[in-house]
Amino acid sequence: MGVTARTPLIAGNWKMNLDHLQAVATVQKLHWTLRDAKFEDGSVEVGIFPPFTDLRSVQTLIDADKIPFALGAQDVSVHDSGAYTGEISGAFLAKLQCRYVIIGHSERREYHAETDEVVAAKTKAALKHGLVPVICVGETAADLEEHGAAAVPVGQLRTALSGLDAKADVVVAYEPVWAIGSGQAATPQQAQDVCAALRQVIAEELGDEAAARTRILYGGSVKSGNIASFMREPDVDGALVGGASLVVDEFAAIVRFQNHVGV
Ligand code: PEP
Repeated sequence: MGVTARTPLIAGNWKMNLDHLQAVATVQKLHWTLRDAKFEDGSVEVGIFPPFTDLRSVQTLIDADKIPFALGAQDVSVHDSGAYTGEISGAFLAKLQCRYVIIGHSERREYHAETDEVVAAKTKAALKHGLVPVICVGETAADLEEHGAAAVPVGQLRTALSGLDAKADVVVAYEPVWAIGSGQAATPQQAQDVCAALRQVIAEELGDEAAARTRILYGGSVKSGNIASFMREPDVDGALVGGASLVVDEFAAIVRFQNHVGV
């Protein structure tokens, strides 16, 4: 695939951490930290994915202080509205100026029995409401042993993209399940190999133009000390960061990967 200008996306998935007051303080501190470090807005897109209950507060702050962060949610309903207690519609997220929504995180697949078909339906629901789905795929340690690294994520992505319009705006996150929260990240070469295979799936399902412009993130124990080595890989366009996104100085250092010594 040729060289294209894909703006790197560094996305912080807070999972079920930080209430709305803590969220406001954290986003403010992240903004000041990046501003003090002379972070150049626009060179890297910063995405923040707080719990649902924080979204309104964070949106208000981002709006009032003109903070250049994109807001995202961690899940979305397949339904638009109705008798679905506890569910959140993509329409509601769009009203909160969410740009992104994480779909099919391995924790949703494992603890909420989300199948590839549910992930595909949620991807369509997100797009219907003008949200950019961040489609998470990745193999477990058992999958890795049995099928190698790429087979499961490739199959998961194929189902999620099947039948979408070639112009669909999506982000893909390759997150080996064994690397999430384990402190044991994939090697940059492992990440590159799978991300290249995923880009090929995008080409087959949505065409070459979509494959060239779609960002593919790596996720799994990303830290300030390893981000630069992932970002050097041609098919890695950013990171989905869990634990390290909760520590402002660490997340700010990840966002500023271009400034790291030895990049
Ligand atoms: C995640 O949950 O998406 C993730 C990548 O977590 P961590 O960075 O903590 O491994």
